[in-house]
Amino acid sequence: MTLPATGTAPAVVRLVGARKTYGSGENAVTALAGVDLAFPAGSFTAVMGPSGSGKSTLLQCAAGLDRVDGGRVELAGADPATLTETELTVLRRSRVGFVFQHFNLLPSLTARQNVELPLRLDGLRPDAARVDRALDEVGLRDRAGHLPGELSGGQQQRVAIARALVARPDVLFADEPTGALDTTASRGVLALLRRAVDGHGRTVVMVTHDPVAAAGADRVVFLADGAVVGELDRPTAAGVAARMAGLEAVAC
Ligand code: ADP
Ligand code: MG
Repeated sequence: MTLPATGTAPAVVRLVGARKTYGSGENAVTALAGVDLAFPAGSFTAVMGPSGSGKSTLLQCAAGLDRVDGGRVELAGADPATLTETELTVLRRSRVGFVFQHFNLLPSLTARQNVELPLRLDGLRPDAARVDRALDEVGLRDRAGHLPGELSGGQQQRVAIARALVARPDVLFADEPTGALDTTASRGVLALLRRAVDGHGRTVVMVTHDPVAAAGADRVVFLADGAVVGELDRPTAAGVAARMAGLEAVAC
């Protein structure tokens, strides 16, 4: 079965009937209840839904950080379920960038060393020009020698984004990347993600609770109880907020 991608660009990531259950028996929790989604190359998708609706699980499975137990995932042309752990690690390192709410930078490494890390883990000698470009893309070349503790939250998240982009992944996943930031820093990070798509042809999938943030995406996908319950193309903040209010009311 082939699902059409939105628009004309081929899908970088696809979930087909993706299911994921945690635990078993009485304690079983269905986090993904059969999700069909495609993320076209060069697009910016926001994922929204009430707490516990499966957003993080969706990202982890789409990124090959976790495995689905029904249906399948196609990531950069591969099916993670058919790969060994080693092959999956290679796929993740070369094709996927992941950004977390709490940055997850190594505190004893400078911004530059944090950005170099994925290249070193791949056994490459970090190419200085490449690291410079990644730092330039997030506007932080002049902070390259600083430790994370010497940077603001917004700057730390931009370093984390540079680290996620330095290996030129096919897709960048971000799980509530602005969740720990104030409004100004959030807007900076969102503008950066938008520019990564528009200016550098990146593909971004971002979980957010913020309708204004979601309105910066090309498309919003709404989840509830592990299922896709709606989509908005060319979203507005008001349209997103109204849709979310409906979902939160049902979830309560
Ligand atoms: P969201 O990111 O939308 O808040 P999650 O994907 O984190 O949702 O979680 C979806 C459901 O799966 C929730 O009911 C959550 O409690 C459950 N869940 C998530 N991770 C685990 C886990 N490691 N073990 C057991 N249950 C989990
Ligand atoms: Mg989550």
